[in-house]
Amino acid sequence: MSTPVYDKVALIGLGLIASSMFWAMKRGGLAGEVTGFARSAETRDTARDIGLCDRICDTAAEAVKDADLVVLCVPVGAMDAVAKEIAPHLKAGATVSDVGSVKRAVIEAVGPHLPDTVHFVPAHPLAGTEHSGPRSGFAELYDNRFCLLVPVEGSAPDAVAKLRALWEGIGANVEEMEPDHHDLVLAVTSHAPHLIAYTMVGVADDLRRVTDSEVIKYSAAGFRDFTRIAASDPTMWRDVFLNNKEATLEILGRFTEELFALQRAIRTGDGDMLHDYFTRTRAIRRGIIEAGQDTDAPDFGRKSGGR
Ligand code: NAP
Repeated sequence: MSTPVYDKVALIGLGLIASSMFWAMKRGGLAGEVTGFARSAETRDTARDIGLCDRICDTAAEAVKDADLVVLCVPVGAMDAVAKEIAPHLKAGATVSDVGSVKRAVIEAVGPHLPDTVHFVPAHPLAGTEHSGPRSGFAELYDNRFCLLVPVEGSAPDAVAKLRALWEGIGANVEEMEPDHHDLVLAVTSHAPHLIAYTMVGVADDLRRVTDSEVIKYSAAGFRDFTRIAASDPTMWRDVFLNNKEATLEILGRFTEELFALQRAIRTGDGDMLHDYFTRTRAIRRGIIEAGQDTDAPDFGRKSGGR
């Protein structure tokens, strides 16, 4: 057990990301006490039943009272209202962070509500699964995954260093990034791929109506992997696209151009083009495995994946 990084941590929102943070903080002895709050009584009751957090509070105000670190773990579209609600109850000197998948929009939604007496250090752990809710978390989710800290103007270096220590204790590799760059990188690595998976599964669903259940019955590995991604939480992903609009549209524009180029190669029988293209993409996969961000196992139902 290491020395706690924070005496008191409050988690607002108790889904996959918050519950995994809690189990990892508990594993590492990183917080003296962890309080939690979620919007519905049902989630709060589940959290109490499974021992998620040291104390579950019935209001966000009560959860953040005296907290040294408050982490907003709600969908991106809910950050604004939650920040407004907790702002008057924050302890002077506390750090407020979040785990939202989009950074510029969250900074703009949360920042203006926070008093000058607190430090705001946005963050985004690049780990997730297609499961959601308080029961879906596990301590190992962040092990060897990246957590990006996105300090804003005025984020105190001490507050950033402390949050870094927490995420490192949780098991993540921590790096800092500027918000707009974050949103563009994530549009490429996560947001556009999710949209493409949603689209492909939508196409197959349309086809299923034509071919009855064959698409499901004979679903091959490629399609199955798409369905795993497309099973991700609808609210979270709606909010991601609505809040990372420009970067996602930019990447989808480029994607469409590439798709047309491949379509053309197929139509014209340009095998060399297709072979060269697939050789290049295979090298990217090798790079991800060498960087320790995935395994080489042919396991399409794997437990965790970066988001
Ligand atoms: P989740 O499992 O769906 O949990 C969301 C939690 O937020 C639930 O406890 C929910 O409460 C609560 N909530 C929703 N709206 C709220 C509101 N208006 N006020 C208070 N609480 C509210 O979601 P998650 O996967 O943990 O995602 C949380 C955040 O992490 C999102 O911002 C997401 O972008 C980010 N993120 C997700 C992933 C991923 O792969 N899942 C990865 C990295 C970052 P109820 O249960 O009571 O509805």
